[in-house]
Amino acid sequence: MFDLNDTISAVSTPPGEGGIGIVRMSGPSSLPIAKKIFVTPQGKNLNGIESHKVIFGYIKEPAAGNIIDEVMLTAMFSPKSFTREDMVEISCHGGSLPLRRILDLTLKSGARLAEPGEFTKRAFLNGRINLLQAEAVIDIIKSKSDIALESAISQLQGGLSEKIASIKNVLIEVSAEIEASIDFPEDDIELRNSLKLKERIDTALFDIRQLIDSYRYGKIYREGISVVIAGRPNVGKSSLMNALLNEERAIVTSIPGTTRDTIEEGLNINGLTIKIVDTAGIRESGEKIEQEGIKRTQKAIEGAGLIVFLLDGSEGLREEDKDLIKEIKQKNKPLIIAINKIDMGNKISSEWGEAGFLKISALKNIGLDELKSKIFDIITPPSSPLLQGGEKRGVVTPEGMVITRERHRELLSKSQDSLNKAVNAINNNLSPEFIAADMRLAIERLGEITGETYSDDVLNRIFQEFCIGK
Ligand code: GDP
Repeated sequence: MFDLNDTISAVSTPPGEGGIGIVRMSGPSSLPIAKKIFVTPQGKNLNGIESHKVIFGYIKEPAAGNIIDEVMLTAMFSPKSFTREDMVEISCHGGSLPLRRILDLTLKSGARLAEPGEFTKRAFLNGRINLLQAEAVIDIIKSKSDIALESAISQLQGGLSEKIASIKNVLIEVSAEIEASIDFPEDDIELRNSLKLKERIDTALFDIRQLIDSYRYGKIYREGISVVIAGRPNVGKSSLMNALLNEERAIVTSIPGTTRDTIEEGLNINGLTIKIVDTAGIRESGEKIEQEGIKRTQKAIEGAGLIVFLLDGSEGLREEDKDLIKEIKQKNKPLIIAINKIDMGNKISSEWGEAGFLKISALKNIGLDELKSKIFDIITPPSSPLLQGGEKRGVVTPEGMVITRERHRELLSKSQDSLNKAVNAINNNLSPEFIAADMRLAIERLGEITGETYSDDVLNRIFQEFCIGK
């Protein structure tokens, strides 16, 4: 546990050289520390400084009096700051030396080095943002695609928090009625209203289920998706990967103002991050090497969000293909089967369900658009405004609200379990105490999502993802 009476300090800009670097402080001594180390060109100190006004001046060693850098200093008085505490930001030249020396001076003058994410943690502990919003701050910083950014901004602005609060309010009302029937059993509210109560719990359950389902998409928004191209050697996996990469790179770079995705095999298509994984690599035959190939494929498939399985239309179906497909189907992952080399004909017989397979040629660029739209259909919600006609629209609408973390999914799931128990208890005419206990648990789990209640463990896990200075 840390002490909110401490004043923390950190370099908030990334390491390396840059135009500007920022040292920031938060806590009750921020201003007294700044006063010790700052002076204006007229030799004035910070007495009478106003909140949110930028002042030009120098940082100097209090003892030796030598100037360390020319800076712009801003003070933000509590509670109107990111952490709701007094804060001071010092913008200096963005070199590692001035930054380090200014940071050292703040530390020598009474601040302590901030832990990773401690500024945001304080914003949470001081009630400025809730846990969902704190997580959104990390997600904004780490976002690698437009969609990840949009979804995180929406979460920061409180879209998801409001949704969860509204579900919770319904449950609190229902709970109050149930508790009332405990206190005044003669009213027998539970029996009279059980149908109505159940209807309202059902509405909440419906919303919770929708949010749980949205994780599939939220995870893709936040992390991107790994599309694994699988199939036996020589079916054209590498050719397909290259065809997809080449084409998309060309499209991405032809749009002014957009940059290429930095992940080597990553694509950024219509704002979504897609990592294409080719499982090729083992070409020689021989039992041992074949087995190694299968092992590698299996590993890639474990981590896949979607599998594109290739068959070779010019050769027809082999036992090996069937075995691999069977194995992949056991993983229960979204699967697209495509017959490649369609330019050389198709020997794959229709009785094998070939009708549902896509027909493509990686080499001759046949059917690739169809393949891509099939990939998008699978990884974006059916009602999503996300990708229509290949054009990106706003991602996040009230209906298209998504949860983005396993933590949210788990808590929603627990809340759902408790509500199901409550409904069962009502159905079985159990005493209202039982129903009330389940309702309370369901409500508490929802509260944990936004951080109304939390444990140090959960906080540590969330904030350790942050960098120092945020
Ligand atoms: P991988 O082992 O599955 O990665 O297969 P490759 O991508 O290396 O392709 C194996 C061979 O099939 C290469 O000679 C490719 O040029 C060829 N090939 C791949 N796709 C097609 C296609 O659509 N049509 C034709 N005719 N040949 C293809």
